[in-house]
Amino acid sequence: MTHVIGVDLGGTKTAAGVVAPSGEVLMSETIPTLNRDGGEAILDATAALIAGLVGRAADAGISVSGVGIGSAGVIDAATGSVVAATDAILGWAGTELVPGLSARLSLPASAVRAVNDVHAHALGEAWLGAAKGSSSSLMVAFGTGVGGSFVLDGAPVLGHRFVGGHVGHFASPHAYSDGVPLPCVCGGSGHVEAIASGPALYEAYLRFGGSAREALDTRGVFALASAAEALDGGADTGSADNPAAALCAIDVGAAAAGQAVGGLINILDPETVVISGGLVDAGDLWWKPMEFALRQELLLPLASVPVVRAALGNSAAIVGAAKLVLK
Ligand SMILES: [Zn+2]
Repeated sequence: MTHVIGVDLGGTKTAAGVVAPSGEVLMSETIPTLNRDGGEAILDATAALIAGLVGRAADAGISVSGVGIGSAGVIDAATGSVVAATDAILGWAGTELVPGLSARLSLPASAVRAVNDVHAHALGEAWLGAAKGSSSSLMVAFGTGVGGSFVLDGAPVLGHRFVGGHVGHFASPHAYSDGVPLPCVCGGSGHVEAIASGPALYEAYLRFGGSAREALDTRGVFALASAAEALDGGADTGSADNPAAALCAIDVGAAAAGQAVGGLINILDPETVVISGGLVDAGDLWWKPMEFALRQELLLPLASVPVVRAALGNSAAIVGAAKLVLK
């Protein structure tokens, strides 16, 4: 049976693996993404990463027939080019991702496919992870940003212009401060991502009176909140405002996340819902208010929809990308 390479090309690092037809990742390597050097430099480095893995596979008697890529940015899955990308990867927009890699690797263009990395992640979870066996699944990831993907009958719904899945960019009633909509990284305002992402949660902590000295980042907010929970609110820490601000920020961010996903469930009625991203790793402090708000939002016939944590960890996007080119 033929094997393929799955690539997860993100804003800070690029991971790739040799993937068996079963979805097992046999060998993998990670390099930093050259996110200041432009598209051609990234293609050179990614092609070298892939070629190295193809060589290692050959040494083990394994032949590789294709390359699937999950990449940051809006990816035109028909031409394999990067339609749009944020400054997280300078010069990525406009890069001919699939043509550039297939030429460097001397592979036919038909053996290389690419989608956005969140779609690859969701496809991996749908194939072998938390939504395995479901004919439809909605995955939403809450981390540095908010993104999602609806996978139907084994394929992510990409949209006519490949922009589908931008679930961080619709209105949230929580994304306001003193009646003014919060600015969003997309240039709009009042969006889900402006209140429910990790950085947005930290901004909320500061707005609620939290001190930057007590919590340097989102992780610090969770540390403050869990310390306060452990004390059960009974002890005077001498800086009671900071834990209170941390707990409020987590509650509003989680409520915004849950309400947004609940609304999407009402629209799409997926068999299984998968929640992913760094905020899930924060544990029950975030998950419980998120799931409470989600279930509050659901229409009655949807009350039993399973809402589960992503299961594949960092390999999800590699496995999902590989699925694009596995026969
Ligand atoms: Zn937005």
